[in-house]
Amino acid sequence: ATLPYDDQNIFAKILRGEIPSTRVYEDEWAIAFHDIAPQAPQHILVIPRGAYVSWDDFSARGSDAEIAGFVRAVGAVARQAGMVADGYRLLANIGQDAGQVVPHLHVHVFAGQPLGPMLA
Ligand code: 5GP
Repeated sequence: ATLPYDDQNIFAKILRGEIPSTRVYEDEWAIAFHDIAPQAPQHILVIPRGAYVSWDDFSARGSDAEIAGFVRAVGAVARQAGMVADGYRLLANIGQDAGQVVPHLHVHVFAGQPLGPMLA
């Protein structure tokens, strides 16, 4: 079940600039900032500017421009952060069983060392 969007969630506040973050990228469609509790040498979160909780909701309700913009932003972050040569991992937790904590859609970008097998 998709939660209703709560505009008091922490990433909504980061988007509005109400709480600080270390932004590493921003454009018309997305922003990216360092995760506060990094799980790899590089750990960046990319979020769409729009109010979406989940991938399923974003892909259903988002405009083609928003979706393309977000996908392009994730790639731009990886390029800008110098991750392309050695590689990186994308991950999105969606909903309860995935352990999603912040109810604003986000993609984790991990890099900086061999990351090991997934779901370890
Ligand atoms: P998820 O919802 O996919 O489980 O993960 C939420 C992620 O957001 C976690 O990796 C957590 O460390 C990060 N996070 C939670 N609160 C903040 C915050 O206030 N600032 C930043 N930069 N990251 C946060």
